[in-house]
Amino acid sequence: MKVAIVGGGPSGLYLALLLKRSEPRWDVEVIEQNPEDATFGFGVVLADTGLQQLREADAGSYQALCEATKQHQHQIIVQAETPIGFRLPVKGGAIPRLTLLQILEQHAEQVGVVVHYRERIDSVEDLARVGLQDADVVVGADGINSVIRREFEQDFGTTSSTLGNHFAWYGTKKVFESSALVFRKYEDSHFVAHYYAYSDEMSTFVAECDDATWNRLKLGSLSEEQRQALMERIFAPELEGAPLISGNARVVWRQFPVIRNAHWTHGRYVLVGDALASAHFSIGSGTRIAMNDSIALANALLASNGDALAGLAAYESTHRPSKQKLISASERSYLWYERMGQWMDNYSPEEFVYQFMTRTGRVNDERLREQYPELMVRLGRTGSAQ
Ligand SMILES: Cc1cc2nc3c(=O)[nH]c(=O)nc-3n(C[C@H](O)[C@H](O)[C@H](O)COP(=O)(O)OP(=O)(O)OC[C@H]3O[C@@H](n4cnc5c(N)ncnc54)[C@H](O)[C@@H]3O)c2cc1C
Repeated sequence: MKVAIVGGGPSGLYLALLLKRSEPRWDVEVIEQNPEDATFGFGVVLADTGLQQLREADAGSYQALCEATKQHQHQIIVQAETPIGFRLPVKGGAIPRLTLLQILEQHAEQVGVVVHYRERIDSVEDLARVGLQDADVVVGADGINSVIRREFEQDFGTTSSTLGNHFAWYGTKKVFESSALVFRKYEDSHFVAHYYAYSDEMSTFVAECDDATWNRLKLGSLSEEQRQALMERIFAPELEGAPLISGNARVVWRQFPVIRNAHWTHGRYVLVGDALASAHFSIGSGTRIAMNDSIALANALLASNGDALAGLAAYESTHRPSKQKLISASERSYLWYERMGQWMDNYSPEEFVYQFMTRTGRVNDERLREQYPELMVRLGRTGSAQ
Protein backbone atom coordinates (compact mmCIF):
# COMPACT_ATOMS: atom_id res chain seq x y z
CA MET A 1 0.00 0.00 0.00
CA LYS A 2 1.15 3.53 -0.69
CA VAL A 3 0.21 6.12 1.94
CA ALA A 4 0.75 9.87 1.51
CA ILE A 5 0.44 11.82 4.75
CA VAL A 6 0.08 15.58 4.38
CA GLY A 7 1.36 17.26 7.56
CA GLY A 8 4.27 16.29 9.80
CA GLY A 9 2.66 17.31 13.11
CA PRO A 10 2.06 14.83 15.94
CA SER A 11 -0.75 12.99 14.13
CA GLY A 12 1.04 12.69 10.77
CA LEU A 13 4.41 11.54 12.10
CA TYR A 14 2.87 9.12 14.58
CA LEU A 15 0.64 7.54 11.95
CA ALA A 16 3.63 7.12 9.63
CA LEU A 17 5.65 5.47 12.40
CA LEU A 18 2.89 3.02 13.34
CA LEU A 19 2.17 2.01 9.75
CA LYS A 20 5.72 1.56 8.55
CA ARG A 21 6.86 -0.25 11.72
CA SER A 22 4.18 -2.91 11.21
CA GLU A 23 4.26 -3.06 7.40
CA PRO A 24 7.84 -2.33 6.27
CA ARG A 25 6.88 -3.12 2.65
CA TRP A 26 4.36 -0.29 2.49
CA ASP A 27 5.46 3.04 1.06
CA VAL A 28 4.69 5.60 3.78
CA GLU A 29 5.70 9.22 3.15
CA VAL A 30 5.03 12.47 5.01
CA ILE A 31 4.92 15.92 3.41
CA GLU A 32 5.64 18.81 5.77
CA GLN A 33 5.74 22.49 4.84
CA ASN A 34 8.16 23.50 7.60
CA PRO A 35 11.87 22.73 7.85
CA GLU A 36 12.65 19.91 10.29
CA ASP A 37 13.88 22.17 13.08
CA ALA A 38 10.87 24.53 13.10
CA THR A 39 7.38 24.44 14.53
CA PHE A 40 4.75 26.73 16.02
CA GLY A 41 4.07 27.05 19.70
CA PHE A 42 6.09 26.23 22.77
CA GLY A 43 5.34 23.28 25.04
CA VAL A 44 2.26 21.06 25.05
CA VAL A 45 0.72 19.03 27.83
CA LEU A 46 0.93 15.27 27.53
CA ALA A 47 -1.08 13.88 30.39
CA ASP A 48 -4.07 11.82 31.36
CA THR A 49 -4.95 8.19 31.22
CA GLY A 50 -4.77 8.27 27.42
CA LEU A 51 -0.99 8.05 27.62
CA GLN A 52 -1.49 4.34 28.21
CA GLN A 53 -2.67 4.04 24.62
CA LEU A 54 0.59 5.53 23.38
CA ARG A 55 2.52 2.95 25.40
CA GLU A 56 0.52 0.10 23.94
CA ALA A 57 0.83 1.44 20.40
CA ASP A 58 4.61 1.95 20.38
CA ALA A 59 6.68 1.42 23.52
CA GLY A 60 9.87 2.91 22.06
CA SER A 61 8.52 6.35 21.22
CA TYR A 62 6.41 6.36 24.41
CA GLN A 63 9.54 5.83 26.50
CA ALA A 64 11.41 8.61 24.69
CA LEU A 65 8.45 10.99 25.09
CA CYS A 66 8.22 10.22 28.82
CA GLU A 67 11.94 10.91 29.28
CA ALA A 68 11.60 14.31 27.59
CA THR A 69 8.47 15.27 29.53
CA LYS A 70 8.73 17.63 32.46
CA GLN A 71 6.49 16.07 35.05
CA HIS A 72 3.82 18.15 36.78
CA GLN A 73 2.95 17.25 40.36
CA HIS A 74 0.85 20.25 41.39
CA GLN A 75 -1.70 22.59 39.97
CA ILE A 76 -2.93 25.91 41.35
CA ILE A 77 -6.18 27.63 40.45
CA VAL A 78 -6.42 31.29 41.42
CA GLN A 79 -9.84 32.95 41.57
CA ALA A 80 -10.52 36.27 43.33
CA GLU A 81 -6.81 36.34 44.20
CA THR A 82 -7.22 33.18 46.30
CA PRO A 83 -4.99 30.29 45.25
CA ILE A 84 -6.29 26.76 45.69
CA GLY A 85 -3.65 24.09 45.11
CA PHE A 86 -3.80 20.35 44.47
CA ARG A 87 -1.61 17.40 43.90
CA LEU A 88 -2.37 16.23 40.37
CA PRO A 89 -3.98 12.79 40.29
CA VAL A 90 -2.90 11.82 36.75
CA LYS A 91 0.55 11.08 35.46
CA GLY A 92 1.99 13.39 32.90
CA GLY A 93 3.46 16.78 32.25
CA ALA A 94 4.56 18.90 29.32
CA ILE A 95 7.07 18.59 26.52
CA PRO A 96 8.52 21.10 24.05
CA ARG A 97 6.50 20.73 20.87
CA LEU A 98 9.68 20.65 18.83
CA THR A 99 11.16 17.81 20.95
CA LEU A 100 7.92 15.85 20.59
CA LEU A 101 8.09 16.19 16.81
CA GLN A 102 11.79 15.34 16.68
CA ILE A 103 11.24 12.17 18.72
CA LEU A 104 8.39 11.04 16.48
CA GLU A 105 10.36 11.91 13.34
CA GLN A 106 13.43 10.04 14.55
CA HIS A 107 11.42 6.92 15.37
CA ALA A 108 9.54 7.17 12.06
CA GLU A 109 12.71 7.56 10.03
CA GLN A 110 14.32 4.64 11.87
CA VAL A 111 11.64 2.32 10.51
CA GLY A 112 11.96 3.74 7.00
CA VAL A 113 9.40 6.53 6.73
CA VAL A 114 10.36 9.22 4.20
CA VAL A 115 9.64 12.80 5.35
CA HIS A 116 9.68 15.54 2.70
CA TYR A 117 10.38 18.77 4.58
CA ARG A 118 9.83 22.28 3.13
CA GLU A 119 7.14 20.93 0.77
CA ARG A 120 3.81 22.70 0.96
CA ILE A 121 0.77 21.07 -0.64
CA ASP A 122 -1.73 23.66 -1.88
CA SER A 123 -3.95 21.20 -3.69
CA VAL A 124 -3.94 17.43 -4.17
CA GLU A 125 -2.35 17.97 -7.58
CA ASP A 126 0.80 19.01 -5.73
CA LEU A 127 1.21 15.39 -4.55
CA ALA A 128 2.73 14.73 -7.99
CA ARG A 129 5.66 16.97 -7.08
CA VAL A 130 6.84 14.34 -4.60
CA GLY A 131 5.66 11.33 -6.64
CA LEU A 132 2.63 10.58 -4.45
CA GLN A 133 -0.20 11.26 -6.91
CA ASP A 134 -1.00 7.53 -7.11
CA ALA A 135 -1.16 6.95 -3.33
CA ASP A 136 -3.86 4.48 -2.22
CA VAL A 137 -4.55 6.61 0.85
CA VAL A 138 -4.05 10.37 1.26
CA VAL A 139 -4.21 11.48 4.89
CA GLY A 140 -5.05 15.06 5.82
CA ALA A 141 -2.92 15.44 8.97
CA ASP A 142 -2.39 19.08 8.14
CA GLY A 143 -4.00 20.70 11.18
CA ILE A 144 -6.71 23.27 11.70
CA ASN A 145 -6.31 24.92 8.28
CA SER A 146 -6.13 21.60 6.43
CA VAL A 147 -5.79 21.91 2.65
CA ILE A 148 -7.01 18.33 2.13
CA ARG A 149 -10.20 19.09 4.07
CA ARG A 150 -10.79 22.39 2.25
CA GLU A 151 -10.43 20.73 -1.13
CA PHE A 152 -13.28 18.30 -0.38
CA GLU A 153 -15.21 20.39 2.10
CA GLN A 154 -18.63 19.42 0.74
CA ASP A 155 -17.82 15.73 0.70
CA PHE A 156 -16.49 15.78 4.23
CA GLY A 157 -19.50 17.87 5.33
CA THR A 158 -17.26 20.40 7.04
CA THR A 159 -18.69 22.97 9.42
CA SER A 160 -16.73 25.69 11.12
CA SER A 161 -17.47 28.44 13.60
CA THR A 162 -15.41 30.69 15.82
CA LEU A 163 -15.53 31.05 19.60
CA GLY A 164 -15.98 34.45 21.22
CA ASN A 165 -13.00 34.33 23.61
CA HIS A 166 -9.62 35.60 22.40
CA PHE A 167 -6.34 33.89 23.26
CA ALA A 168 -2.61 34.07 22.63
CA TRP A 169 -0.01 31.30 22.99
CA TYR A 170 3.15 32.77 24.56
CA GLY A 171 6.27 31.29 26.10
CA THR A 172 8.37 32.67 28.94
CA LYS A 173 11.74 31.91 30.46
CA LYS A 174 10.24 31.86 33.92
CA VAL A 175 10.09 28.21 34.96
CA PHE A 176 6.95 27.81 37.06
CA GLU A 177 7.01 25.26 39.85
CA SER A 178 3.33 24.34 39.51
CA SER A 179 1.07 24.45 36.51
CA ALA A 180 -1.59 27.07 37.10
CA LEU A 181 -4.73 28.80 35.96
CA VAL A 182 -4.93 32.39 37.15
CA PHE A 183 -8.32 34.06 36.66
CA ARG A 184 -7.89 37.79 37.17
CA LYS A 185 -10.15 40.81 36.98
CA TYR A 186 -8.53 43.92 35.57
CA GLU A 187 -10.46 47.18 35.06
CA ASP A 188 -13.70 45.26 35.53
CA SER A 189 -12.73 42.84 32.77
CA HIS A 190 -11.95 39.10 32.76
CA PHE A 191 -8.64 37.45 31.97
CA VAL A 192 -7.13 34.04 32.56
CA ALA A 193 -3.58 32.77 32.18
CA HIS A 194 -2.93 29.03 31.76
CA TYR A 195 0.74 28.28 32.35
CA TYR A 196 3.07 25.35 32.94
CA ALA A 197 6.79 24.60 32.67
CA TYR A 198 7.76 22.29 29.82
CA SER A 199 11.53 22.17 30.33
CA ASP A 200 14.10 23.41 32.82
CA GLU A 201 14.35 26.64 30.82
CA MET A 202 10.88 27.47 29.54
CA SER A 203 7.16 27.59 30.30
CA THR A 204 4.10 27.87 28.08
CA PHE A 205 1.86 30.83 28.94
CA VAL A 206 -1.56 30.99 27.25
CA ALA A 207 -3.42 34.25 27.89
CA GLU A 208 -7.18 34.49 27.28
CA CYS A 209 -10.01 36.96 27.74
CA ASP A 210 -13.69 36.96 26.93
CA ASP A 211 -15.15 38.88 24.00
CA ALA A 212 -16.73 41.52 26.27
CA THR A 213 -13.30 42.25 27.73
CA TRP A 214 -11.75 42.44 24.27
CA ASN A 215 -14.34 45.03 23.22
CA ARG A 216 -14.48 46.99 26.47
CA LEU A 217 -10.71 47.49 26.60
CA LYS A 218 -10.52 47.92 22.79
CA LEU A 219 -7.83 45.26 22.59
CA GLY A 220 -8.45 44.89 18.86
CA SER A 221 -7.08 48.35 18.25
CA LEU A 222 -3.82 47.64 20.10
CA SER A 223 -0.71 46.27 18.40
CA GLU A 224 0.56 42.76 19.28
CA GLU A 225 3.37 44.45 21.27
CA GLN A 226 0.88 46.52 23.27
CA ARG A 227 -1.28 43.48 24.01
CA GLN A 228 1.77 41.56 25.16
CA ALA A 229 2.83 44.45 27.43
CA LEU A 230 -0.69 44.51 28.89
CA MET A 231 -0.53 40.77 29.69
CA GLU A 232 2.88 41.29 31.31
CA ARG A 233 1.29 43.98 33.47
CA ILE A 234 -1.83 42.03 34.41
CA PHE A 235 0.13 38.87 35.23
CA ALA A 236 3.15 40.66 36.74
CA PRO A 237 2.71 38.91 40.13
CA GLU A 238 3.20 35.54 38.42
CA LEU A 239 5.80 36.54 35.81
CA GLU A 240 7.91 38.47 38.34
CA GLY A 241 9.53 40.54 35.61
CA ALA A 242 10.11 37.73 33.09
CA PRO A 243 8.96 38.92 29.65
CA LEU A 244 6.54 36.94 27.50
CA ILE A 245 7.85 35.59 24.19
CA SER A 246 5.55 35.47 21.20
CA GLY A 247 7.56 33.16 18.91
CA ASN A 248 7.56 33.81 15.20
CA ALA A 249 3.81 34.08 14.63
CA ARG A 250 2.68 37.34 13.02
CA VAL A 251 -0.79 37.11 14.51
CA VAL A 252 -0.54 36.12 18.16
CA TRP A 253 -4.08 36.81 19.42
CA ARG A 254 -6.80 34.67 17.84
CA GLN A 255 -10.27 33.27 18.37
CA PHE A 256 -10.51 29.50 18.43
CA PRO A 257 -11.95 27.87 15.29
CA VAL A 258 -14.32 24.98 15.93
CA ILE A 259 -13.97 22.56 13.01
CA ARG A 260 -16.16 19.50 12.60
CA ASN A 261 -16.73 17.03 9.76
CA ALA A 262 -19.83 14.91 9.21
CA HIS A 263 -17.75 12.36 7.26
CA TRP A 264 -14.19 11.42 8.02
CA THR A 265 -13.34 9.98 4.64
CA HIS A 266 -13.95 10.76 0.99
CA GLY A 267 -12.73 8.10 -1.42
CA ARG A 268 -9.02 7.65 -0.69
CA TYR A 269 -8.89 10.85 1.41
CA VAL A 270 -9.13 10.70 5.21
CA LEU A 271 -8.74 13.23 8.03
CA VAL A 272 -7.04 12.91 11.43
CA GLY A 273 -6.21 15.21 14.37
CA ASP A 274 -7.06 18.89 14.26
CA ALA A 275 -7.88 18.65 10.54
CA LEU A 276 -10.77 16.39 11.52
CA ALA A 277 -11.94 18.12 14.71
CA SER A 278 -10.19 20.91 16.55
CA ALA A 279 -9.87 20.08 20.26
CA HIS A 280 -9.90 23.11 22.52
CA PHE A 281 -6.63 23.76 24.35
CA SER A 282 -8.38 24.05 27.72
CA ILE A 283 -8.64 20.28 28.03
CA GLY A 284 -4.87 20.02 27.46
CA SER A 285 -5.24 16.96 25.27
CA GLY A 286 -5.22 18.13 21.63
CA THR A 287 -1.96 16.37 20.90
CA ARG A 288 -2.98 13.12 22.53
CA ILE A 289 -6.40 13.15 20.83
CA ALA A 290 -4.66 13.67 17.48
CA MET A 291 -2.25 10.81 18.18
CA ASN A 292 -5.16 8.56 19.21
CA ASP A 293 -6.70 9.15 15.78
CA SER A 294 -3.45 7.94 14.28
CA ILE A 295 -3.52 4.78 16.38
CA ALA A 296 -7.09 4.07 15.25
CA LEU A 297 -6.35 4.75 11.57
CA ALA A 298 -3.16 2.68 11.65
CA ASN A 299 -4.97 -0.26 13.27
CA ALA A 300 -7.81 -0.09 10.73
CA LEU A 301 -5.50 0.08 7.71
CA LEU A 302 -3.22 -2.66 9.03
CA ALA A 303 -6.22 -4.95 9.55
CA SER A 304 -7.65 -4.27 6.09
CA ASN A 305 -5.69 -6.93 4.18
CA GLY A 306 -4.62 -4.34 1.67
CA ASP A 307 -8.17 -3.07 1.01
CA ALA A 308 -7.55 0.62 1.68
CA LEU A 309 -11.17 1.77 1.38
CA ALA A 310 -12.38 -0.92 3.77
CA GLY A 311 -9.68 0.19 6.21
CA LEU A 312 -10.82 3.81 6.00
CA ALA A 313 -14.45 2.84 6.59
CA ALA A 314 -13.42 0.76 9.62
CA TYR A 315 -11.42 3.70 11.03
CA GLU A 316 -14.50 5.91 11.06
CA SER A 317 -16.94 3.34 12.38
CA THR A 318 -14.73 2.02 15.19
CA HIS A 319 -13.13 5.24 16.36
CA ARG A 320 -16.03 7.73 16.09
CA PRO A 321 -17.66 6.95 19.49
CA SER A 322 -14.50 7.40 21.56
CA LYS A 323 -13.41 10.47 19.62
CA GLN A 324 -16.85 11.96 20.10
CA LYS A 325 -16.55 11.59 23.88
CA LEU A 326 -13.36 13.65 23.96
CA ILE A 327 -14.65 16.23 21.52
CA SER A 328 -17.81 16.62 23.61
CA ALA A 329 -15.62 17.17 26.68
CA SER A 330 -13.71 19.81 24.74
CA GLU A 331 -17.00 21.49 23.77
CA ARG A 332 -18.28 21.62 27.34
CA SER A 333 -14.93 22.99 28.43
CA TYR A 334 -14.83 25.86 25.95
CA LEU A 335 -18.46 26.73 26.66
CA TRP A 336 -17.49 27.07 30.32
CA TYR A 337 -14.65 29.43 29.40
CA GLU A 338 -16.95 31.45 27.14
CA ARG A 339 -18.92 32.30 30.30
CA MET A 340 -15.91 32.80 32.53
CA GLY A 341 -16.91 36.38 33.45
CA GLN A 342 -20.09 35.05 35.01
CA TRP A 343 -18.24 32.40 37.01
CA MET A 344 -15.60 34.90 38.13
CA ASP A 345 -18.16 37.49 39.22
CA ASN A 346 -20.48 35.18 41.11
CA TYR A 347 -18.58 32.31 42.71
CA SER A 348 -16.41 31.93 45.79
CA PRO A 349 -12.96 30.49 45.03
CA GLU A 350 -14.00 27.02 46.22
CA GLU A 351 -17.31 26.96 44.31
CA PHE A 352 -15.51 28.33 41.29
CA VAL A 353 -12.96 25.52 41.38
CA TYR A 354 -15.77 22.99 41.81
CA GLN A 355 -17.60 24.39 38.78
CA PHE A 356 -14.34 24.32 36.84
CA MET A 357 -13.48 20.73 37.76
CA THR A 358 -16.93 19.42 36.82
CA ARG A 359 -17.29 21.49 33.63
CA THR A 360 -16.80 18.67 31.14
CA GLY A 361 -19.23 16.29 32.85
CA ARG A 362 -16.51 13.65 33.09
CA VAL A 363 -15.75 14.25 36.77
CA ASN A 364 -18.38 13.77 39.47
CA ASP A 365 -18.41 14.39 43.24
CA GLU A 366 -17.28 10.87 43.99
CA ARG A 367 -14.18 11.25 41.85
CA LEU A 368 -13.49 14.67 43.33
CA ARG A 369 -13.71 13.24 46.85
CA GLU A 370 -11.19 10.61 45.87
CA GLN A 371 -8.80 12.94 44.07
CA TYR A 372 -9.26 16.28 45.88
CA PRO A 373 -10.50 15.42 49.37
CA GLU A 374 -9.40 18.74 50.89
CA LEU A 375 -11.40 20.78 48.38
CA MET A 376 -14.49 18.71 49.03
CA VAL A 377 -14.08 19.18 52.78
CA ARG A 378 -13.78 22.96 52.28
CA LEU A 379 -16.94 22.84 50.17
CA GLY A 380 -18.81 20.74 52.72
CA ARG A 381 -19.30 18.09 50.05
CA THR A 382 -17.87 15.21 52.02
CA GLY A 383 -20.63 12.88 50.94
CA SER A 384 -21.42 11.59 54.44
CA ALA A 385 -24.45 13.84 55.06
CA GLN A 386 -25.70 13.76 51.47
C1 LIG B 1 -2.94 27.88 22.35
C2 LIG B 1 -2.89 26.41 22.16
C3 LIG B 1 -2.42 25.64 23.20
C4 LIG B 1 -2.41 24.25 23.06
N1 LIG B 1 -2.01 23.52 24.12
C5 LIG B 1 -2.02 22.19 24.02
C6 LIG B 1 -1.62 21.37 25.12
O1 LIG B 1 -1.24 21.86 26.17
N2 LIG B 1 -1.67 20.03 24.98
C7 LIG B 1 -2.06 19.47 23.83
O2 LIG B 1 -2.08 18.25 23.75
N3 LIG B 1 -2.45 20.19 22.77
C8 LIG B 1 -2.45 21.54 22.84
N4 LIG B 1 -2.86 22.27 21.79
C9 LIG B 1 -3.43 21.61 20.63
C10 LIG B 1 -2.40 20.94 19.78
O3 LIG B 1 -1.43 21.85 19.38
C11 LIG B 1 -3.10 20.34 18.56
O4 LIG B 1 -4.30 19.74 18.93
C12 LIG B 1 -2.20 19.26 17.92
O5 LIG B 1 -1.01 19.85 17.53
C13 LIG B 1 -2.89 18.63 16.71
O6 LIG B 1 -1.98 17.83 16.01
P1 LIG B 1 -2.13 17.62 14.44
O7 LIG B 1 -1.00 16.72 14.06
O8 LIG B 1 -3.50 17.22 14.11
O9 LIG B 1 -1.96 19.06 13.79
P2 LIG B 1 -0.77 20.11 13.85
O10 LIG B 1 0.00 19.98 15.10
O11 LIG B 1 -1.37 21.43 13.54
O12 LIG B 1 0.21 19.68 12.67
C14 LIG B 1 -0.10 19.92 11.30
C15 LIG B 1 1.20 19.91 10.52
O13 LIG B 1 0.89 20.01 9.15
C16 LIG B 1 1.72 20.96 8.52
N5 LIG B 1 0.97 21.50 7.39
C17 LIG B 1 -0.16 22.22 7.45
N6 LIG B 1 -0.62 22.53 6.23
C18 LIG B 1 0.27 21.93 5.36
C19 LIG B 1 0.34 21.89 3.94
N7 LIG B 1 -0.61 22.47 3.20
N8 LIG B 1 1.35 21.22 3.36
C20 LIG B 1 2.31 20.61 4.14
N9 LIG B 1 2.28 20.64 5.48
C21 LIG B 1 1.27 21.29 6.08
C22 LIG B 1 2.00 21.98 9.62
O14 LIG B 1 3.20 22.69 9.37
C23 LIG B 1 2.09 21.08 10.85
O15 LIG B 1 3.41 20.62 11.06
C24 LIG B 1 -2.86 23.65 21.87
C25 LIG B 1 -3.28 24.43 20.80
C26 LIG B 1 -3.33 25.81 20.95
C27 LIG B 1 -3.82 26.63 19.79
